[in-house]
Order: sequence, then C-alpha cells, then structure tokens
Amino acid sequence: MKKILAVILALLLGLSLTACGKDKADETAKDFEKPENYASVILVTINPQFRLYLDAQGTVLAVEPANDDAESIKDKITVQNGDIEKVVEGIVTAVNDGGFVKDNAATVNLSVVEVKDDKVDTESVLQKTQTAVSEGFKKIEVKAEVIIKVEEKDEADAPADSKPESSSSEPTSSTASSKDQPSSNTTSSNEEHKHSFKAATCTAAKTCSCGATEGSPLGHSYTNGLCSRCGAKDPDYKTPLSQKGGKWEGIYWVNSGDTKMFYKATVFLDENYIGYGGGGLAIDIMGSEQGVQEAINNGEAFLFDGEYWLAGFGGGHATIESVNENGQTVIIKTDEGSVTFTRTGETTLTVTACDSELVSAQGIKVGTVFNLK
Ligand SMILES: [Zn+2]
Ligand SMILES: [Zn+2]
Repeated sequence: MKKILAVILALLLGLSLTACGKDKADETAKDFEKPENYASVILVTINPQFRLYLDAQGTVLAVEPANDDAESIKDKITVQNGDIEKVVEGIVTAVNDGGFVKDNAATVNLSVVEVKDDKVDTESVLQKTQTAVSEGFKKIEVKAEVIIKVEEKDEADAPADSKPESSSSEPTSSTASSKDQPSSNTTSSNEEHKHSFKAATCTAAKTCSCGATEGSPLGHSYTNGLCSRCGAKDPDYKTPLSQKGGKWEGIYWVNSGDTKMFYKATVFLDENYIGYGGGGLAIDIMGSEQGVQEAINNGEAFLFDGEYWLAGFGGGHATIESVNENGQTVIIKTDEGSVTFTRTGETTLTVTACDSELVSAQGIKVGTVFNLK
C-alpha cells in the first residue's frame, strides 16, 4: 500500500488547531507534566490529537493528549515513551479501538509545533513520525493518509504570531522548507506542496503525486534477455546459437567467369559441419527459354534473386572446429577457414566476413543471410 505524503507549509499554526474541534488544543492537558529536557514537540492529529515530546534523538519522552478525544483514550495507549514507532503504534491502536477510525481510513496531520533545540532535524523527525504512523495503521489494516505540515516555532503557545518572516529566519525552518523542494514555490503561497517521490522504475523517473519528476528512469537491466527488475524482454536479445542449434541456410550467387554460379551453404550446428552445393543459371544450362520453361515445369528450376537457377553442380563440406559467440558476433571456424556472422535476428545470421578457403575456394559472399530452417 502506497502512502501519500503531502507536506504542506502551513504558515499559521491556527490552521491545524482550529480544525480539531471543541477543545483548545494549545492548552496543556490536566494532569500532564511536560518533560524537562525535550527538544521538540510534534502534534499528531488523527483526530484525537496528541503532542509528542521528543528528545534530540527523536525518542519520545511523553505523550500529551491535546483534545478531549485524546484525553478519553490516553490510558489505553500502551507505550507512553521510548521508541517512536512503539509509541505511535500504541496511539494508533488506541485511536482505532476508541472508534475514531471510520471506514477503515484515517487522515493524519503531523506538524512540529515547538523546537527548543536548534540542532533538531525537524524534517527527519517528521519523516520518522510519518513512517511510524503509516506503519502503525498498516498493522491494523487501516488506510492512512499522513499529511505533514511543516512549521517551526520557538513557542508553541503563540500560534497567531507565526508570520512567514519570523519562521523563515529560523535555521530549522529554512532548512525544512528549501531542502528537497527543488521546484516548489517558496514565497508566494502560504500552502506549500512538498514533493514526495515514488521510487524510480525502469521506465519512469521518481514521480510525485503532483506529476513532478526527479532524475531519470533507471533503464532496464537485462540478463539473458529479460530485465531483472521488471521482467521486460530485451528487444536486442538473441538466444545463443549454442541453445538454438539447427540448420542455418544461406543462398547467394557469385560471378564465375562470364556467367553466374549460385551456392547454397548450410551450417549444421548440431552435426558440426558446413555443407554446400552449387548450381548455375537455368538459361545457361538449358540453352533456351523453352528448356528453362520445361525445367520450371518439372520442378528442377527455382527462382532466386529474379533469375531461374538449376542445382546440382557438386558440393562439399567443411568441418566446424569451433563456434564463438560474442554478443551479436558469431565466428565459426572450420577446417577450411572461418566465417563471421552478425546475429541480425532470432532466426537470421548475416555474413560479415569469410575466408576465401571456404565453400568452393571463394568464400561465402559477404551480406548473405542465413535463415534457421
Ligand atoms: Zn509534488
Ligand atoms: Zn526493467
């Protein structure tokens, strides 16, 4: 389940407080004693609303109910201090058990309402709280939207005095509002969207729900034809010949004296040899158009590259000594010389070089395409 994290710079603390109901949230709850050495206070509004008093390390020192709803369930919170994850989990469970979660969905507002120690990284404290709240609700299978309101104040109990100028002059505030927000408007609005980027994928950069992106897509990471991340097929992948085997057949013609010869060469990968046979133009062999027509009618002539040919001028074979594949390049070494191919397709090889010793001491013509039969 993806959580939506929207960070809003609410310049007036009153925004979050007036929204929380009948209780004056900035009054310290009765029977509550603020811990002495707290560094920051986070307001968690579900509603119920709580203040978390944290030390400089982000450990919870105390939980203060900040409205009546919170007051009514405060005794049900199992963990009142220590690890923020555990405390928040206790709060979330108590809130749910208290019947404050409707329709299995909760909206939670988080804000820093007081910073006593300038060294506190409020952003990371909020992130940590956000994670704890999300995880807490996840455990009880409640959909939670956690909204972080960024604001820092010296005094929690002077909400209306928080003007943009005074808050931005504070180091923690400027850090929190400028860092990690490369493209947001920092001056002209009093509600500031802070991007929350979903992790980049093979094909998409880090993306915020607002549509903003950061960085670039990861790109596929292909191994043996498949992306190890997303399973996409590598369009350039060719199954290695060693796994395909079979017969690869190539036909080509060459000039031979004042006429033409054709050759059919077949690479028998499983039997480790290259077999070949030759032939000539049907018109040369049959001597007349009528003869060619008869050869066509008899099935003896075949059309190749726009002309009729006749097979049957002997042949030979070369023994394959090795098949070397390196990416798209395949070098087949035989006892009569080597031929180099490029893998142009899953079932095609194209000759890019050939020793002249091979196939009737002429070599296989460069450019000849071999097809898997
Ligand atoms: Zn955004
Ligand atoms: Zn991928």
